[in-house]
Amino acid sequence: MSELAYPYEAPASQALFDRAAAVTPGGVNSPVRAFRAVGGTPRFMVSGTGPYLTDADGREYVDLVCSWGPMILGHAHPEVVAAVQEAVARGTSFGTPAEGEVALAEAMVERVAPLEEVRLVSSGTEATMSAIRLARGFTQRTKVVKFAGCYHGHVDSLLAAAGSGLATFALPDTPGVTGAQASDTIVLPYNDLEAVHAAFAAHPGEIACVITEASPGNMGVVPPLPGFNQGLKDACAANGALFVSDEVMTGFRTSKAGWYGVEGVVPDLMTFGKVMGGGFPAAAFGGRADVMAHLAPAGPVYQAGTLSGNPVATAAGLAQLRLLDDAAYEKVDAVSARLQSLVTEALTKEGVAHTVQNASNMFSVFFTDGPVTNYDEAKAQESFRFTAFFHSLLANGVYLPPSSFESWFVSTAHDERALQRIADALPAAARAAAEASA
Ligand code: PLP
Repeated sequence: MSELAYPYEAPASQALFDRAAAVTPGGVNSPVRAFRAVGGTPRFMVSGTGPYLTDADGREYVDLVCSWGPMILGHAHPEVVAAVQEAVARGTSFGTPAEGEVALAEAMVERVAPLEEVRLVSSGTEATMSAIRLARGFTQRTKVVKFAGCYHGHVDSLLAAAGSGLATFALPDTPGVTGAQASDTIVLPYNDLEAVHAAFAAHPGEIACVITEASPGNMGVVPPLPGFNQGLKDACAANGALFVSDEVMTGFRTSKAGWYGVEGVVPDLMTFGKVMGGGFPAAAFGGRADVMAHLAPAGPVYQAGTLSGNPVATAAGLAQLRLLDDAAYEKVDAVSARLQSLVTEALTKEGVAHTVQNASNMFSVFFTDGPVTNYDEAKAQESFRFTAFFHSLLANGVYLPPSSFESWFVSTAHDERALQRIADALPAAARAAAEASA
């Protein structure tokens, strides 16, 4: 530990974690924040500026989580903050329609061609849950196909992630999800079109939709193989099902038009969150106008929300989207590429088996020889090496996602100084990974 720049203990964070554990299950409001996969004290952050977070012990970290994706302009971007302050001063929630939500929807529709109409909600989970309900209502069918390793929020029917085998009915992955909910979910291996065709053959006229992460980032970054998404679209079209592309993570991040902008495959429905909310709870689902017309009050499929289209959240989201021009994406892509090569260089130098995979500027490091094309391959990595790597970087002022199954995120604010901090910390982290044992 002698070469660590910071003392490893985090007494102020630990005290807050102890307080939190007394009033909140596991001390956190979202499980991965608890550091269970890597151990140690979760850092309680008190502020964020640009590419940096400062914790309760007063330590500064280069942030490679960016709130799990939303903070693509860095923390507390002055123009986003100004838009929020202006909106807050006019009132925080009206429970009526307001111009801000129209402007945000227009901005989204303008950027993403297949998005003819959009409905705003407050979380990615709500977006996918609503899209699935709409797909079922529209097709009058019950079953949903999802892929192992794809996360779509904590929607009951979408938590089934295991259950390999062709068109096997998945078992609930968590207590609290009924067998009935899970049995309407068909879980298939990612990047396996044969399995999709077999599922349609086994369930003629029963499958309402296929939902997939546009480019998965929740089993680490595992991009679709060439033709996979188009194959899903074609299989859905041939079988009267809807193709739902979950762009909660990739939307407005992997390009101006998200993963759609990279690949050009046209979904029937899409879901969004993260970047479009500018760090506030805003998300959305949308797509074909004839399908969206089935949504209340235009149609019979019910969906609603007290805080949907919240004026502060929409102001933040709109300000962020307006700042995300071509130059911004070029910057984020360049930062990401530089970081990917720094990581590769450090790990290669120490002889650590690894593969860095990316989807535009989203990327992650698998501690195994690649390529990683599905969840089983992702799970086969040497995660214990990630744990050592993570803690060494954390101790030297670099904040990675606390799990080897998460994407790393960067922003336009990650400048030379921030990258240098990471470059300085990487050799010791790579050494720690090399020396780690299971
Ligand atoms: N879909 C994808 C692809 C996600 O990555 C996430 C969250 O990480 C969600 C849906 C759920 O979004 P939220 O956490 O806002 O409910």
